Parts: sequence; structure tokens; C-alpha cells
Amino acid sequence: MSVTGLPPYDPQNIFARILRGEIPCKRVYEDEFALAFHDINPQAPTHVLVIPKGPHVSAADFLADAGDAEIAGFWRAVGHVAKSLGLEDAGYRLLTNMGADGGQEVPHFHVHIFGGKRLGRMVSVS
Ligand code: AMP
Repeated sequence: MSVTGLPPYDPQNIFARILRGEIPCKRVYEDEFALAFHDINPQAPTHVLVIPKGPHVSAADFLADAGDAEIAGFWRAVGHVAKSLGLEDAGYRLLTNMGADGGQEVPHFHVHIFGGKRLGRMVSVS
């Protein structure tokens, strides 16, 4: 169930299908709470997506509906993945798009990890 203006969770969304193994991904990391894989259309030298295993449409849904263990486990996985990618020393960017104004394309909550170059101060808002 979406807590925002977004439709309810669609179990046929592409990330749900990746979680079920119906569509391949370039997996980076997986544990009880999260799956991380390379973005199919990278916007930086390193561009990895981290998704929770539960059916959450957006950041708002995840933060409203997920249990404390799931939230903690997911964010620990994000940190672990960034570290394992060797991004900690030079730095990296985390980003999550939510809803129409946020430009969210896939309706399964995900965090982008960008790194591998100087990314500039902010994303474009033009
Ligand atoms: P967002 O706009 O935040 O919803 O971003 C969705 C991201 O998912 C985009 O960066 C896409 O390139 C990426 N994406 C879509 N389909 C796939 C896929 N099958 N495997 C990996 N990344 C994907």
C-alpha cells in the first residue's frame, strides 16, 4: 500500500521481477534485507542500486511501513555496498527519487549509489 499519491505496490515492477530472479541483474551484494546491483544505464563510473526485499513503493512507504530491523538492515547494506565498492575514501552520493516530482521511474523503493568521479555539488534541478 502506498502512503503517497503513488499507486499501490505493483508486484510486476521490474525490481520485483529482479528480486524473484525472473530478470537478470549484475549483482553486487545480497543479504536478508537488501539486494544491490549495477544500474543498467549508469550515470557515473560507479552507479549501483540498492533495493529492500520488501514491497515498498517509495522512500515514504518504506519509512512508514518497514519494520525497524528492515530499515536498519537496509541502510547498513547501503553503507556496506558503498564501502565494498571502494568509494569511502574518495566519497560518493546517495540519492532516492520519490514520486512524480522526484522523477521516480521504478515503483520499488531504491537508493542510487554514485561514485568514481567528482560529482559536483548537486543534481540538476533545471
Ligand atoms: P528512478 O528514476 O530513481 O526510479 O531510477 C530507476 C533506475 O533503474 C534508472 O537509473 C534505470 O536505469 C534503472 N533500471 C531500470 N531497469 C533496470 C534493470 N533491469 N537493471 C538495472 N537497472 C535498471
